Amino acid sequence: SDLSSLICDRIRDVPDYPQPGVMFKDITPLLADPAVFTAVVDELAGAYDVDKIVGIEARGFILAAPVAYRAGAGFVPIRKKGKLPSETLEESYDLEYGSATIEVHRDAFTEGDRVLIVDDVLATGGTAEATVELVRRAGAEVVGVAVLMELAFLKGRERLAGVDLRSLVIV
Ligand code: 5GP
Repeated sequence: SDLSSLICDRIRDVPDYPQPGVMFKDITPLLADPAVFTAVVDELAGAYDVDKIVGIEARGFILAAPVAYRAGAGFVPIRKKGKLPSETLEESYDLEYGSATIEVHRDAFTEGDRVLIVDDVLATGGTAEATVELVRRAGAEVVGVAVLMELAFLKGRERLAGVDLRSLVIV
């Protein structure tokens, strides 16, 4: 679609970041372009009927907060372990080397809240899978996961079986 090509034009490939052999998708040109940034936010905010938007630290926050505002929904942050001040639930997942742990406040949701999870890039799907699990354990219903860009060759979609995954661009 039109929006997909606008997004593609504003995502920059950075070779060998953060490690040799990795082609990093840099979304900062998109964020700096007011027409594309607002089009992305409006597209995501208009497509779901939800109570809360969940953003994943750190680039997910940049997208999820304006989507929440536009949708008239609440915003809930998912953070790396040790950053949230009150009682949390945590979920660990494997990385290529080692593992990561993410957290959400135990009282972030009202039982049965309908939730959309927003992030910038779906790569292996490990982060999104752990976030879905965490949101469900916290008592909410995951209505969907929305990302700007899905890296199809990493097969992250396969880790989100049964979840409505929407990617504005698939490469
Ligand atoms: P995954 O857990 O799916 O392997 O990785 C997704 C997470 O890592 C997302 O939170 C995303 O922000 C970050 N990430 C992984 N690769 C990239 C990339 O190429 N570009 C950007 N912007 N984020 C990435």
